[in-house]
Parts: sequence; C-alpha cells; structure tokens
Amino acid sequence: MTLYKKHVKKSPMQFRVLGCSGGQIPGRHLSSYLVNDSLLIDAGSTTAVLSLRAQQKIRNILITHAHLDHVMSLATMADNLFGINDATIKVWGMQEVITALHGSFFNNTLWPDFTRITGDGQSSPILSLHRLPKGKPVPVAELTVTAVRVNHAVPSTAFFVEDRKMALLHVGDTGPTERVWSLARRKKNLRAVVLETSFPNRLQETADSSHHLTPQTLAREAEKLGRPSVPILVTHLKPLYREEIIAELKKLKGLRIRILKQGDSLAL
Ligand SMILES: [Zn+2]
Ligand SMILES: [Zn+2]
Repeated sequence: MTLYKKHVKKSPMQFRVLGCSGGQIPGRHLSSYLVNDSLLIDAGSTTAVLSLRAQQKIRNILITHAHLDHVMSLATMADNLFGINDATIKVWGMQEVITALHGSFFNNTLWPDFTRITGDGQSSPILSLHRLPKGKPVPVAELTVTAVRVNHAVPSTAFFVEDRKMALLHVGDTGPTERVWSLARRKKNLRAVVLETSFPNRLQETADSSHHLTPQTLAREAEKLGRPSVPILVTHLKPLYREEIIAELKKLKGLRIRILKQGDSLAL
C-alpha cells in the first residue's frame, strides 16, 4: 500500500537556483533557474554551474529578456553540447526576444548561429528558437507556460509555470507593472513568486530609469498581488548594494520574503 501511494503521488516541482545575482563577481552567478532538471529559466550562469551531463538533460529554455546577464550561457551551452547532443534544445521567448537572439546574438558575428549549423555528430541544430504568444498558455514538456509582458528597458516577460497542481510565477527584470498581478490574483494555486530587487531605496531614481525595483517598490508590487501568504522569492540584487538591500527588505512587514541564494533547491 505504501509503495502504491509512493508511486501515484505526484512529486512537487523542483526549483533550483543556479544563479540569482544582479551582477557577476566571484561566487555570485547571474540569473539562471532549473525546473525539474530539464527546463531552464534564463541562462546567465548555466555553464558556470552545471556539469556537461546536467547540461545535456536540458530540453527547454525560457528566456525572460535578451539582456546579456540572462542569455550569455546560451552561447557557451551551445558550444559545449555541439557534437554530443543530438536532441535540439528549444529556446522559448516572446517575439521581441526571439528577434533579438536571431539578429544580435546568434548572428555569426557575435557568436556562430547555433540555430542553423550542423555537422559531424550533429545532424540537427543544437538550438531552435520558438515564439511564446503573450497571455496564452503553451505546453512545454510536462508543464504549461504563460508569458506576460512586464516593464523593463527592453521587452521582458514574466512566466507562469504550471503543472496540474500548482503555479510558480517567475517575473523577469521589471520596474513597477500591472497586468501580471491581475492575472496572479486569480491563480488560486500560486505557490511562489520570484521577483527582482536590484537597487536600495536611496537609488530609486536609478531603479526607475533602468526599470528595476527597490525594496519599497517591491513592497508596492506585492500589495498589487494582494496575497500576503504567497512567498516572494527575491532575486537580482546588485552585488555592490547587496547588504543594504537585504537590510531594507528585512524591515518590510506583512510579507513572506525569502532572499534566494545560488544553490537553493526548493520543492514547491
Ligand atoms: Zn535586464
Ligand atoms: Zn538582469
């Protein structure tokens, strides 16, 4: 009976933090998160953290936006896996992200076009790029992903990542935003929200002009969500201001705040 129960019980969604820093210094890796070993959200530090074998398990990659600190490992991953990975890895993003990756990244100038090249031991390209429609759920492996535009210096996306039981909301780089919160309010099974805070409160103008959050604007975004029981997993702290931001976050009342650390592995 116990065995049977074990067998039918659906395991929780595994969320592993490869990197969550808003800047790169030794010991602080850039944004990259692994869901259930085979889905990556952003690729800032993937190849600095995962073994080749673990990189080979990745089948799908969601890209929030095309800033380098969120995509640079697409280059090194494609290079690592070329010739040993015959399965094509699907890279998903909204149209503006796909256009940027095609035109400015895999353009045979900055980096070889790994969405096209094949050769010895590589019968199909190592990467393929796929457009995610805004606001419409799309099946990605065993999960469902819904992309929602947020507010950043370049087009940036939040993702609802859902299985049959629960939803994770991963918000990319953003300043204050609205639509994603109105959708999140309706998700009864929302388990956690990953949300950025890049600057301390005294640099509010810098945060506003670069479309990022501070502890005080994070608190306002959390109010828009209106679900104080849902944990807010904070990411993207700039290394220079890390201690200051943490001190300000700790003063926020009435929120379930957890500052994510690389190496964290959460069963949601
Ligand atoms: Zn950005
Ligand atoms: Zn960033």
